[in-house]
Amino acid sequence: MTIPIHRLRPLAAAVTLVSCLSAPTAVAAPTAAAAPGSLAPAAGCALPGRTGWTDEGHDTDRIRFQPATGTRRVLTLYVDFPDAPATDSTEPYTAQLAPAADWMGSASYGRLRLENTPLRRWVRMPADSTSYGFARGLTFEAHEKYLQDAVTAADPYADFSRYDMVYVVPTRTATAIPFSPTYLYDPATPGVTADGTRLKWAVTFGQDMWHWGHKVAAHESAHTFGLPDLYAFTGATHRYVGGWDVMGDIAGPAPQYLGWHSWKLGWTRDDQVACLPASGRRMVRLTPVERPGGTKIAVLRTGGTTAYVAESRRAQGSDAAACSTGVLIYAVDSAARTGEGPVQIMNANPATTPAAGCTPLDRAAYAPGQSFTDPATGVRIDVLAGGAAGDTVRLSKE
Ligand SMILES: [Zn+2]
Repeated sequence: MTIPIHRLRPLAAAVTLVSCLSAPTAVAAPTAAAAPGSLAPAAGCALPGRTGWTDEGHDTDRIRFQPATGTRRVLTLYVDFPDAPATDSTEPYTAQLAPAADWMGSASYGRLRLENTPLRRWVRMPADSTSYGFARGLTFEAHEKYLQDAVTAADPYADFSRYDMVYVVPTRTATAIPFSPTYLYDPATPGVTADGTRLKWAVTFGQDMWHWGHKVAAHESAHTFGLPDLYAFTGATHRYVGGWDVMGDIAGPAPQYLGWHSWKLGWTRDDQVACLPASGRRMVRLTPVERPGGTKIAVLRTGGTTAYVAESRRAQGSDAAACSTGVLIYAVDSAARTGEGPVQIMNANPATTPAAGCTPLDRAAYAPGQSFTDPATGVRIDVLAGGAAGDTVRLSKE
């Protein structure tokens, strides 16, 4: 299995590690519901970004990253090369990625509309597919050159001033273009221009689009909205979030964006976020993130850049193949860099043997009667009840 690789800017920011956590313990459901805590506004649980790049901060840089709401206009270019001419039509390529628009529309509760315009022809790149440096580790400069060449070659056939983002899709014969990096706007560079327009965001697909399918477009496009990678760049690849959230394992069983991401992207509103910003208690009724409406996340802030989040997950919609359902609990650290565990799922059932197609972490959801505790921060999250409508949790912090 290949992993999409992205350009990583050198960063001066220090990496903050998420604190070690105790194993969850099962408890009996309480006989009486706790009194709800104070109704703190969501802003008290919004964490500041600290990495200068894609991260879990709520204060997304709106110069570098594009809005994730409303209509975003995408132009898809199909490219071939002197050493790898196309031998088929562009139609199967369009069909492979087209479901991404509906998938993201649904995942965003209808708040994002990807309006994709395919340029229904091959455009010939000026250089061989092997010349762009993908095989030996792609630099930003080489990636930008690839994008500029594609845009220049397509310029006679398209008005780039009409689009927010470009997808570049290579012919299947170009095996030297193996993976699908995202191109993000950097105001410090001259960049790529066409039709008097600076092209700020792009995804250049590789042959891995045939392995991942349309969800690779959902993953890569989300980087242009500011989301980080949740899989690990080093060590065991899926140890942080398994197959929860398409920013983790793209082919995982429950790829719906985490509620935390949905809030960052503007798909979940502030009044759908229950916040416990400091010590206290609060009871929250959660509705599943796979459907619109209701309270989507319960956030318990533990520090300047850290929080625990609880959300309700059900095997429906994008998560129809989910390996476990109930309350998903995870630690968020907005100072952790992409690929270094900015989100870590807490596993309610670490001793459970997963079913075929599921990893142990895919079985992580908490059921009524189970509790998560973290003695280091004095945090406790009890799952009080669950049903078709969602789950009820009690947050408490010493
Ligand atoms: Zn990625």
